[in-house]
Amino acid sequence: MTRFSRREFLESGGTLAGAGAALGLGAAWPRAIDAQTPRETFGAPDMVVHNARVFTVDDAQPMTEAFAIKNGRFVAVGSNDDVRNLIASGTDVIDADGMTVMPGFTDAHCHPGGVRELTGVNVNFRTIPEVLNALRTKAATTPPDYWVRGHMYDDTKFREGRPVTRRDLDEAVPNHPAAVDHRGGHTSVYNSKAFEMAGVAVDTPDPFGGHFFREDGELTGKVAELARREVDRIGRTAPITRETRQAGVAFISKEMTKAGITTVHQTHGATTALVALQDAYAAGELHFRMYFFPSGGSDCYAGLKAAGVRTGFGDDWLQIGGVKYGADGAASERTMRMSTPYVGRPDDYGILTMDQDEIHEATEDAHRNGYQIGIHANGDVAIDMVLNAYERVQREWPKPDSRHRIEHCSLVNDSLLRRIKTVGAIPTPFYTYVHYHGNKWVEYGEEKMRWMFAHRSFLDYDIPVAPASDYMPGPYEPLMALQSMVTRKDFDGRVWGANQRITLDEAIRICTMGGAYASFEEQKKGNIVAGKLADFVMLARDPHNVDPDTIKEIPIARTVVGGKTMYEG
Ligand SMILES: [Zn+2]
Repeated sequence: MTRFSRREFLESGGTLAGAGAALGLGAAWPRAIDAQTPRETFGAPDMVVHNARVFTVDDAQPMTEAFAIKNGRFVAVGSNDDVRNLIASGTDVIDADGMTVMPGFTDAHCHPGGVRELTGVNVNFRTIPEVLNALRTKAATTPPDYWVRGHMYDDTKFREGRPVTRRDLDEAVPNHPAAVDHRGGHTSVYNSKAFEMAGVAVDTPDPFGGHFFREDGELTGKVAELARREVDRIGRTAPITRETRQAGVAFISKEMTKAGITTVHQTHGATTALVALQDAYAAGELHFRMYFFPSGGSDCYAGLKAAGVRTGFGDDWLQIGGVKYGADGAASERTMRMSTPYVGRPDDYGILTMDQDEIHEATEDAHRNGYQIGIHANGDVAIDMVLNAYERVQREWPKPDSRHRIEHCSLVNDSLLRRIKTVGAIPTPFYTYVHYHGNKWVEYGEEKMRWMFAHRSFLDYDIPVAPASDYMPGPYEPLMALQSMVTRKDFDGRVWGANQRITLDEAIRICTMGGAYASFEEQKKGNIVAGKLADFVMLARDPHNVDPDTIKEIPIARTVVGGKTMYEG
């Protein structure tokens, strides 16, 4: 049994950073952290889990049977006999009945606002009439001039085999401005009323970083990237109150813990989002731990920076993460910027949304002001530009262990991989995309798919990989992620880039320790080790013992964050 004793604690220098080193968890923690570790021998545990198959993600003791929790941390991890000896009156004893337990999962890149989920029109349907019906129903109770908007739209999932068009939307919603927003977040389809109010016609030129799609001398309705601003500025939207935002956080954090997620990195947000998190936390409604990235260029980031707040400010539940920017288009919406064109569109190399100077400027600002930076870069061209900036700041103002991140980092090659390793950057490749978005990969082709979402390559180059759904664009369920990374199979069983398959244990490590590393917290959480935060998940079946094509179907039995049960199936 490993047990975090008073003696070890004192010998370690009385801080958790030292404790981490004493426990063989690597280099000393670089930043100040809380000191909630018990100063006395821990006494009666609050919770004991026994009779489990515990996959600890700790090389010193990879598998065990039981553990004890006190004050939100693991205090003992070992055999049934050892841990049962610690049970006292008042200990909550959980007999796992042979179930599998793992560290809680992190989603290190997603957008879980919760407000759209609570108030918008969810159009995650498989037929176009269902989408139109949902919008029609909403329009019936929406005042004139107010937007009717659907979210979770996905152009490639319809039985009709075609996307929603302007004409479809006109038929369902003729009198309001209306749109469906792609779950990828980079394109929308608008109706004629919206274009008319915005003064956008077929001959309106494309703005920088955006595109109005046209066909046969007409607008199709589809609009990409920054061109959407030209349309979105018109129309009215019901005000979203502070209470609604708080309710959104409560809702989505509860939903995500149902899937086994215990930590979330919200990779961009405004002040209102940060306030909502704080409100939900204060009200006891925050179910997961949050590492929050203010958006680059936002008042939120400017204000935090001016106040001297840096990456890591906060506590174990809510902290300021890095600052977030976006340099190119999307993988799932086929707008990312590549050095070679899309299949069937020889002139289409995708879209950049920042130029090299802007990337340099943003990186220098973050790096010199104590911020980790996360720049969205999907295509190899965008990744190269981001690496140029990361290499430059480390040359000019060296700061080891900056852990700057390349958000998504979808299409790589050997030279990019070498540079990522050398500069110490962290990629956050999509973890459910191969499975969920498989039908989109035909537009990249088999050769590119050998280098996309390159989990195997990152591990081979010894690059620390973070787990990322990009929800809403991708499903966040970590068990679907494990299945996707292990099988590289889509919904129809087609395999995409088999060379990038990884083992189940590698995938589990990415979803746990990989997430902790990406927020500088690998000595606080990410595995089941005495002294660490007691975040874990209990699964009804062991994913090691099922057909890999069915991992996503395993029910989550329980999710515990900081020793508190947040979900029980
Ligand atoms: Zn994102």
